[in-house]
Amino acid sequence: MGKIILTGDRPTGRLHIGHYVGSLKRRVELQNSGEYDRIFIMIADAQALTDNADNPEKVRQNIIEVALDYLACGLDPTKSTLFIQSQVSELCELTFFYMNLVTVSRLQRNPTVKSEIQMRNFESSIPVGFFTYPISQASDITAFKATTVPVGEDQEPMIEQTREIVRKFNSIYGETLVEPDILLPDNKVCLRLPGTDGKAKMSKSLGNCIYLAEEPEEIRKKVMSMYTDPDHIKVEDPGKVEGNTVFTYLDAFCRPEHFGKYLPDYQSLDELKAHYMKGGLGDVKVKKFLNAVLQEELEPIRNRRKEFQKDIPYVYQVLKQGSMEAQKAAAQTLADVKSAMKINYFDDVDLISAQSEKYR
Ligand code: ATP
Ligand code: MG
Repeated sequence: MGKIILTGDRPTGRLHIGHYVGSLKRRVELQNSGEYDRIFIMIADAQALTDNADNPEKVRQNIIEVALDYLACGLDPTKSTLFIQSQVSELCELTFFYMNLVTVSRLQRNPTVKSEIQMRNFESSIPVGFFTYPISQASDITAFKATTVPVGEDQEPMIEQTREIVRKFNSIYGETLVEPDILLPDNKVCLRLPGTDGKAKMSKSLGNCIYLAEEPEEIRKKVMSMYTDPDHIKVEDPGKVEGNTVFTYLDAFCRPEHFGKYLPDYQSLDELKAHYMKGGLGDVKVKKFLNAVLQEELEPIRNRRKEFQKDIPYVYQVLKQGSMEAQKAAAQTLADVKSAMKINYFDDVDLISAQSEKYR
């Protein structure tokens, strides 16, 4: 059996630097490593509709934004299958069958869903589709027999749920589905990049993002107004680096060569942190350095995006082609699932002859 990747994003906005360090950058590396037999990258529009049912236009508009961000980051349609979830109806059928293998209380225990329900004020009226999206995510992953799912830490409960469904399915109906492994970022701060406001997670829904497509001036403004250490008031004050978002972003993006280029007074991030903690280093200087680092990282992405923006019909063509390929792969798995569950009545010659025997 080969190594297969499935991962994706909800088209609820443009992609941001949290997506980039949490998953996107890794995907491109994995794609280019040549170690994977197939790579499926899904734009999860059906999942986005589970909490945006009243605003389908938002989802519709953002499909192209996510696709452009993908191409800008280096996902290559000749190496990876880029597709739209709703165009692969087999995924719904799988969800329908998996729902019977999961209890309501098990879904209620999912910590990511719990906090998302709170964030969306769904406590008293959770849409059933939203509540059950971990099951639909299990369908997305298993439909492609994915072995590897590169995602941020918030997805851990979803992968665990998927593994449980796979084990349950295989134990009832026989070895059919593949148990996936989660692939988290190596760098700890990238597991869940905080927002520019210091909140626990940069998220489209919280409006605390630096987007990949952002123009240089916008990046600079956002960096200069970022959350730091609220007790670090005067330059001489000793500062904290833990929970200080500017340093967290440096942990995520800064490389040794950046010091020579943009801040030659320091050799390393450890040295910069030590000075900050001792006192005598102002926020503005650190923010200017972060700005330079981010500008360097984001410029080529923005430029590539602008190239792809010139040919939008091509981007839709890529998604159409990818959706057709994804549909083919999912149909094969659905056929395996139906035959394991013995609901492939018309293909089952033994069943037909046994029933004939019964009434002979
Ligand atoms: P929404 O608010 O609509 O849920 P989101 O910003 O959480 O949007 P998703 O589309 O849900 O983005 O997540 C896509 C992928 O990006 C997932 O693998 C998720 O783990 C990862 N991801 C999202 N936000 C972050 C973050 N702040 N840090 C690291 N990874 C992240
Ligand atoms: Mg999310």
